[in-house]
Amino acid sequence: MTRLVPTALIILTASAATADETRQLDAHEHGVGQLNIAFDGDQIAMELHAPGADIVGFEYTAESAEDRGLVDAAVATLARPLDLFALPAAAGCSVVQASASLESEEANDEHGHEDHAEHEEEGDDHAEHDHKDENHAAHEEDHDHAEEAHHTEFHAEYLLNCANPAQATLIDFAYFDAFPNALELEVQVITDRGATAFEVERDAPVLDLRDMF
Ligand SMILES: [Zn+2]
Repeated sequence: MTRLVPTALIILTASAATADETRQLDAHEHGVGQLNIAFDGDQIAMELHAPGADIVGFEYTAESAEDRGLVDAAVATLARPLDLFALPAAAGCSVVQASASLESEEANDEHGHEDHAEHEEEGDDHAEHDHKDENHAAHEEDHDHAEEAHHTEFHAEYLLNCANPAQATLIDFAYFDAFPNALELEVQVITDRGATAFEVERDAPVLDLRDMF
């Protein structure tokens, strides 16, 4: 599969990897995602990062059937890029590759659960019992704190092929209709003429790229 990846996607992946090294999930801003778009010949490579809060409305570990269902539905929606970032029909774009997943910081949460379980197994003689309850309460606080610090992000990568990429100059961000908690996308567009950053907001969900070609 690697040998089929075009230059543009390699550039995107490299820049994203650099960003990931300096950016922790807990540094993300809820409501704000990042979208990189690289035009290379008749191909368009895209990479999206968005907080779990934007996509499903929560960032705790999905355990209930309802929450798991929300995550599964979101991943399925994120795997249809042309429904989220609509391009003019004249561009004749189709999806070559699309993948989406949920990334999470599991460590804090699992640690909290382990401590919790250990205390449930402590002896049940009465003197121990009061002591146990105190510890139990203290660990509940730790656990809540861990939950607050727990962040997730959805990550998606797309590769499009366009019959007439010169017509792909207007992107309609239906993304904001699909995800009501999303407020803004920080967009970086790379073309032959260089890289340009945009902020696309819910209030004006259209990106005009005519000056980029
Ligand atoms: Zn978060």
